[in-house]
Amino acid sequence: MNPYQKEQSEAISMVWRHLIALDTAAIDGLKNMIADYLLFRNKVSEFLSEHFSALCNRKCYESKLSACCSREGIIIFFGDVVINLIESQDYEIMSILATLEQTNMGSKCIYLGNNGCIWRLKPIVCEMFLCKTAKQEVFNANPRLGEMWDEFKRWEKLYKWPDRPVLFDDLETYFIKAGFSSTLMYLHNNPGLLNVKRKSQILKKYE
Ligand code: SF4
Repeated sequence: MNPYQKEQSEAISMVWRHLIALDTAAIDGLKNMIADYLLFRNKVSEFLSEHFSALCNRKCYESKLSACCSREGIIIFFGDVVINLIESQDYEIMSILATLEQTNMGSKCIYLGNNGCIWRLKPIVCEMFLCKTAKQEVFNANPRLGEMWDEFKRWEKLYKWPDRPVLFDDLETYFIKAGFSSTLMYLHNNPGLLNVKRKSQILKKYE
């Protein structure tokens, strides 16, 4: 297990252990917290499947390029882990943990299985990635779709860009308060994101 896999495995195991111990009311509370985000993800998913899946299948999947998933270590937020685990069945979580035990022989993402990503709700960075070729082909043919995509990118920020209270920060805080810590808690440990938070808090004082 390389350091990336170890880091992922530790975060996933920790969140899973905590979720298993929660009662129904606490799980319902977490589900309420992520409900709006799931709505956003549904909308993005519908958009991508309507306008991109045929193209991505033809250009990438069938030719085995799969450029989106060809990086060994992608950025995964702690919030991605929490949300995916809330939405997953135990057997899916066990499959992810078992995969992380294996040596990644290729140059592809460890989570890329035979039928695509093994996460039920893939990380936000992956969902919002469109390669240059795909964007050019679709958006040049229909600029309105490009505008819609820009709108989705702005919407995405409302969950993870901490210039205001955001879900991904709240989920980290929830687990920190419960006594947990993870290197994937970027909204609490990434200098750039902490800076964004600090600036917005300073600006708020002068509003
Ligand atoms: S996590 Fe899933 S979607 Fe993201 S790069 Fe890996 S296999 Fe692809």
